Amino acid sequence: MLQFDILVIGGGPGGYSLAINAAKHGLKAAVFEKEHVGGTCLNVGCIPTKALIQTADVYHKVKDAARFAVTGVEADKIAVDMAALQARKKAVVKTLVNGVKGLLRGNKVTVVEGMASFADTHTLSVDGRSITGANIIIATGSSVFMPPFIALEGENHLLTSTEALDLDQVPASVTVIGGGVIGVEFAYLLNRLGSKVTVLELMDHILPMVDIEVSRLAEKRMTKDGILFRLGAKVSRVKDDTVYYEFGGQNCQVKSDMVLMAVGRVPNTQGLNAKGIGIEFDRKAIRTDAHMRTNIPHIYAIGDVNGKVMLAHTASHEGMVAVADICGQGEEMRYDRIPSCVYLEPEIACIGLTEAQAREKYGDGLKIGRFNMAANGKSLIAGDTDGLFKVIVAADTGEILGAHLYGQHVTDMIGEISAAMAAEGTAEELIHA
Ligand code: FAD
Ligand code: NAD
Repeated sequence: MLQFDILVIGGGPGGYSLAINAAKHGLKAAVFEKEHVGGTCLNVGCIPTKALIQTADVYHKVKDAARFAVTGVEADKIAVDMAALQARKKAVVKTLVNGVKGLLRGNKVTVVEGMASFADTHTLSVDGRSITGANIIIATGSSVFMPPFIALEGENHLLTSTEALDLDQVPASVTVIGGGVIGVEFAYLLNRLGSKVTVLELMDHILPMVDIEVSRLAEKRMTKDGILFRLGAKVSRVKDDTVYYEFGGQNCQVKSDMVLMAVGRVPNTQGLNAKGIGIEFDRKAIRTDAHMRTNIPHIYAIGDVNGKVMLAHTASHEGMVAVADICGQGEEMRYDRIPSCVYLEPEIACIGLTEAQAREKYGDGLKIGRFNMAANGKSLIAGDTDGLFKVIVAADTGEILGAHLYGQHVTDMIGEISAAMAAEGTAEELIHA
């Protein structure tokens, strides 16, 4: 007799939302969590970063008040109280984590504290206890990738995103290794708080998953705001307070108070004994099909651990697909319509194919709508006219293939395009809505 219908390893946005959803379907569920309920997203990811960015943006707006005809603000006296900022961030995180704990309790999900590993394909071990389940969901998330090809020597202030969230003072200078989403959001945050920021990125553009036209505009804007980007820079070594890199055939170096390592994240599978029970991998990630099944049919892998799209809402939705499969409802995960946002000013929000990807697939059979935000009323009123709206449509059917927005509040707008794409609406239908 198995004890639970579903055992979930990991209490992040993938795991906790799946367990609550399973309970709502009448299934008896348990979540195993080794560190903190809420996972990366609530504790050391999405939520704390955006709480810090909120303050950086308020600070910037207040300093800029005179531009909006507000008098009496002495810009040189405005400052951020880092201790109060950390306290506010912690309070936001605590409220959300307690909310999740309450939801788990309210839905009668059992929470087991500790590190879980597979004893066999229906049994998990935690601190010497064995717990059995009909289905097992691996939702163990990801951790910071520390690249073996970058040597770390001497005494240095090397941070990952986790430590960078806890700074009690703003460093005078920071070097960010990696111009992906994490590197760019932290570069933006620290620049706004007053650090001198240098970003070293291997590729010839920042934000690898964003349409190149938008990524170039964002880079141009952040350069204007004072961030130094070195694109095509290959970092080889961090020694003491100096980062060594190759740039344009030259050996270069940059000194700074702190260094942030942000060259990606890797799925968490160590200590799980997943390979031991026969689960197959795709490199470091657990292999899954469109129903989120692994090669063992009653074992699923959702969220960052399957290495597909490392976003919180993707993890939650993959959990919905897995529960549907367990309940015999046969839903499939669609990876071509996942919105993703970068929280800068102006913001970036995108969904679907980039122009380069669409050209590769559809050749000339595209219509591309572009609108420059310099001509947009609300942007003028908001005092920030940098930006572009770009919508990519199949010329023959009118199907929306991708949308790439760069402008004020676009992270609040992408949902409309996302809903239209999910409903397989055409650009014409969206215009009429
Ligand atoms: P996680 O949230 O990582 O949760 C996994 C949980 O499993 C952890 O709590 C871990 O302790 C636990 N665990 C692991 N192994 C075991 C084990 N063997 N036994 C028991 N427990 C275990 N995404 C967005 O969509 N928007 C954002 O703005 C955003 N910002 C981010 C900012 C930063 C700095 C970072 C690092 C990430 C950000 N992300 C963002 C990504 C987002 O945090 C992840 O995609 C999301 O947390 C993945 O959810 P998950 O449930 O798969 O894993
Ligand atoms: P990433 O893969 O997005 O970016 C890593 C960057 O580092 C790449 O641009 C890569 O070219 C560069 N790089 C690799 N090796 C390098 C080297 N030797 N020298 C210089 N640059 C090098 O990874 P990330 O930024 O760490 O983010 C991890 C995940 O977290 C992302 O996949 C993202 O989905 C998620 N995330 C999302 C948000 C959001 O949605 N707003 C925010 C933060 C994180």
